[in-house]
Amino acid sequence: MSKTIGVVGAGTMGNGIAQVAARAGYTVVLRDMKSDFLERGMKAIDRSLQRDVDKERLGAEEKTKIINRIRTTTEWSDLADADFVIEAITESIEAKTEVFRALDKIVQKEAILASNTSSISITKLAATTRRPDKVIGMHFMNPVPVMKLVEIVRGIQTSDKTDAETRRLVEEFGKTGLDCNDSPGFVSNRVLMPMINEAIFTLYEGVATRESIDGIMKLGMNHPMGPLALADFIGLDVCLAIMNVLHQELGDPKYRPCPLLRRYVDAGWLGRKTGRGFYEYNEQ
Ligand code: NAD
Repeated sequence: MSKTIGVVGAGTMGNGIAQVAARAGYTVVLRDMKSDFLERGMKAIDRSLQRDVDKERLGAEEKTKIINRIRTTTEWSDLADADFVIEAITESIEAKTEVFRALDKIVQKEAILASNTSSISITKLAATTRRPDKVIGMHFMNPVPVMKLVEIVRGIQTSDKTDAETRRLVEEFGKTGLDCNDSPGFVSNRVLMPMINEAIFTLYEGVATRESIDGIMKLGMNHPMGPLALADFIGLDVCLAIMNVLHQELGDPKYRPCPLLRRYVDAGWLGRKTGRGFYEYNEQ
């Protein structure tokens, strides 16, 4: 049974995953490249748990216990005792490959390596390690503490044992795991991202204002958030990276990223996390 969970990347997803694992009673080692990023991640965890304390869904003492179960580090060596590691770094195959190679060297040989990638091939990541049978996709949704789904993605070499252990962990986290084969964007982003990209095209072509586009999808399709607001929430760099993977891997021009999405990412307008995307945000 996994006792110590390693989480690599303390950004939007990584800090959410660390929080959920610690809340389920696990010891968590959270690694990022700089202590600033770790501090920001821990602040986000604190804020999120405090909301539950304020709503009387969590005791103040329990909150402290959860936070104390998370140890932060910038060193790979601190992950040596983790028996299950979840990678949640930037959506780049080069960066993720480097992380998987490093993890493969450092963790025990029985440890499972999971990736929270939104679109990158699990089979490819697995092949960069000496344990391809112990590599799996664990695609959490944003915000992690709130969203129930985890897409469980099996690479071509993932073993039944790895799949079963991952499924058990997902349940212990209080989530529902649904299976998906290893294919670009899996199910969630194969369906969601082209819709977001098309919404950006409607803005780019002047079909409607951002408020109308989002309002039409909310009121007309009963979506809880409009696609442009959702893109800001996900991160425009993440959206662009996913569209690029769909475009390159599936080779169909229908997946081409909208030029406006590229331009916003070039400008550093990445959505909520930078204070500006399709909308402006005061609070970061
Ligand atoms: P983010 O930009 O908020 O955070 C990424 C973090 O990874 C940063 O703190 C960065 O410093 C860190 N990092 C980069 N390289 C590292 C390394 N070598 N070692 C340790 N830390 C490193 O990104 P995010 O939105 O949290 O996305 C992370 C992953 O989760 C991506 O693969 C993304 O596709 C996926 N994902 C994102 C969402 C979403 O809605 N944002 C949803 C599901 C899955």
